[in-house]
Amino acid sequence: MQLKALTIVKLGGSVITYKDSSPPRVNESNLTRIAMELKTHRGELIIVLGGGAHGHQAAHSHGFADPNSSKELLVRGIPPIRHNMSELATSVETVLNKEGIPTIIIAPFACVTLRNGLIHEFPTSIIRKALDNGLVVLTHGDVCFDEESTASILSGDTIAVYLAQQMNAGTILIGTDVDGVLDDNPKLNPSAKHIPLINQENKEAILAKTGPSTNTDVTGGMSKKVNELLEIARQNREVIIFNLTVPNRLKSLLQNESTICTRIQS
Ligand code: ADP
Repeated sequence: MQLKALTIVKLGGSVITYKDSSPPRVNESNLTRIAMELKTHRGELIIVLGGGAHGHQAAHSHGFADPNSSKELLVRGIPPIRHNMSELATSVETVLNKEGIPTIIIAPFACVTLRNGLIHEFPTSIIRKALDNGLVVLTHGDVCFDEESTASILSGDTIAVYLAQQMNAGTILIGTDVDGVLDDNPKLNPSAKHIPLINQENKEAILAKTGPSTNTDVTGGMSKKVNELLEIARQNREVIIFNLTVPNRLKSLLQNESTICTRIQS
C-alpha cells in the first residue's frame, strides 16, 4: 500500500557524505542507491539533507558550536558553509534528476531567519507551489542569519520537523546510520538494544539514555532528534527513524511495509 499525503524524507549527513572526510566528500554509491529507492515513491515528497562532512566541519571551525564566538568568525564561516551545502545539494539533485525524479533545490539561507537558533521566519508558499506542480523539493541543513546571534546553524532534523508541522505531512522518515534509537549509543556499546517504539510510556526513560552523536556534529545527535520528533508525533502521522545505510529499508517504509526502525508515537 502506498503512503498518503505529504512524505518528508531526511537523508542523514552520515549516510550521504563521508562524515569524517576533509575536504568533504559525497558518498556517491549510497546516493545512487537511495535515488533508486526514492523513485518507488508515489505522492508529494520533500527531501531534507543533513550537513554531514559538508556542514559540520566548516561550522565547527568557524565557532558555531561555541556560544562565545565573535561575530567576525561566524560571518567568515557563512561563505564556506554555504558553498559546501550548495555543493552537496547539487550533487544530490543531479543524481535524483538523472533517475527521473524531478527535483528542485530550495536553500534555507535565502528565505529563513532564526532567533536564538530557532526558526523565526520560514515561508513555505514556494514549497507548496512546487509540490502542487508535481516537483520534488530538496532542502538542506544550512547556516542562516539569526536575529539574536548573527548567524546559526539550522539542522536538517529541525527543518524536517518544522515542515512536517507547517505542511501537515503524513509521514516523516528520518534516515541515519543506525537502526533507529537504541538504549545506548551503538557506536560505543555494541550490545545496545534496539527500541522499536517510543511513546508516552517509555519516552522519559529513553531520553535519559540517548546521548549526543559520536560524530563531529554541531546539531545535537540522537537525543535532539527524538525530542524534536516527539513534538510532531500524533495520530495519523508516521514518524520513523531508520537505518538508511541498509539497502531497501527506505523503499519498504515508502511502500508502508514493515522493516527494522524506531516508530515515534504520541
Ligand atoms: P545523522 O548525521 O545521520 O543525522 P547523527 O550523527 O546526528 O546522524 O545521529 C546519529 C548518531 O547518533 C548515530 O550514529 C549514533 O552514533 C548516535 N547515537 C547516540 N546515542 C544513540 C542512541 N541511543 N541510539 C542510536 N544512536 C545513538
